[in-house]
Amino acid sequence: MSLHLPTLFLLNVYVLTLLGCLMLHVWWRSDGESTLGCSAGTLLLAGLGVLVVGLRGRGMDTLSIMLGHMLLQLASGLGWATMRVFVGRRLWWPGIAGGALLWALLCQWPYFMSTVSLRLTVATLLTILYTLLTAGELWGARRLLEVAIGPVLALLLAHALFCSGLLLLSGRHDIDWIWGGLDDGFLTWRLLEAFLFIIGMAFATLAMVRERAELRYRAVAYRDPLTDIGNRRAFTAGSEALLVRCAAEGRPATLLLCDLDHFKRLNDTHGHAMGDAALIAFGRLLALGIRQQDICGRIGGEEFACLLPGADEMAALQVAERIRRACSELLLGTEVRVSVSIGIASTAQAGYELSRLLALGDQALYRAKAKGRNRVERFTD
Ligand code: GH3
Ligand code: MG
Ligand code: MG
Repeated sequence: MSLHLPTLFLLNVYVLTLLGCLMLHVWWRSDGESTLGCSAGTLLLAGLGVLVVGLRGRGMDTLSIMLGHMLLQLASGLGWATMRVFVGRRLWWPGIAGGALLWALLCQWPYFMSTVSLRLTVATLLTILYTLLTAGELWGARRLLEVAIGPVLALLLAHALFCSGLLLLSGRHDIDWIWGGLDDGFLTWRLLEAFLFIIGMAFATLAMVRERAELRYRAVAYRDPLTDIGNRRAFTAGSEALLVRCAAEGRPATLLLCDLDHFKRLNDTHGHAMGDAALIAFGRLLALGIRQQDICGRIGGEEFACLLPGADEMAALQVAERIRRACSELLLGTEVRVSVSIGIASTAQAGYELSRLLALGDQALYRAKAKGRNRVERFTD
């Protein structure tokens, strides 16, 4: 296969600049996600760098060699910074500009300027260094990141391997054979690989940023802001999935429907802030009082629900009693107390449909209220 080098240069400049502008636009429209700003900078600098490097042989060799590679090294530095910012670290300008500055310094040395093999070796070594630093940022933060980092790591490692392979080959062969004549040499492949790598990185970075934003929005959408436990949406989604699993495994599941007693009176007597404090305290009590596999959520104003997979009615009764007692022992401020009524319904009576479980749980809860509150009642026909 033969690739026309000048066409490849032009294509590089055009696509990198276009992608850089698009990334700038996405950054502008985002919620100030700096990762995207850094990625846009990387693309634009790389596009400009390729343009200047491509001017070589048009009477501007010194400018092309010095400035072009400085821009490309700066792009590599900013690529590293992109991942630093993504994992929550600060920009480190000496590191970002270090490669470009080293290149500028070396260009003052006539032997460096006149020895193409040395220049290409240094440029490739710097590229490998920045690539490994970029991968290191992601790898170091892998336990904290909730998004998939595999594609970006794979891209980075493939790029580092490709560049290392070129270095190894250039140590064994005549430099002209490695870096090519003009049209069909390794320079073409080097350029093509770098081009695909930068585009791949831009898309993979965008995908990671989007995935993280989506996870954060989803977490907010599923959390009750007051009590910091799941809201009705989270409880419904989690419970429906859990009930499907229990049905498939033939295991029972039991619902506890909790409603704080005389809550309106508490609000009226002690103020809304005290009511909120009671809700927060009860939410915490509930979250701490259930097992990891159980689901709880605030499904209404002062209504909470728990679904206990694997628990039959008797086991659920014990959990409900424990919650009721712990609630009656809560002390808000210096004197305010609160109590809860709990209705219990299990899959043995309601089947595995959440709406039916909730309906039967509501009937049991109604009985608990009617019998004087601060008590637990099971659903009975
Ligand atoms: P019962 O014992 O029969 O359950 O009576 P109740 O007063 O608890 O029930 P009711 O449904 O009459 O009143 C519920 C109250 O909960 C009314 C509403 O103002 C209050 N409420 C709902 N959401 C919040 C909230 O987020 N914060 C506070 N402080 N109060 C809330
Ligand atoms: Mg209520
Ligand atoms: Mg109530």
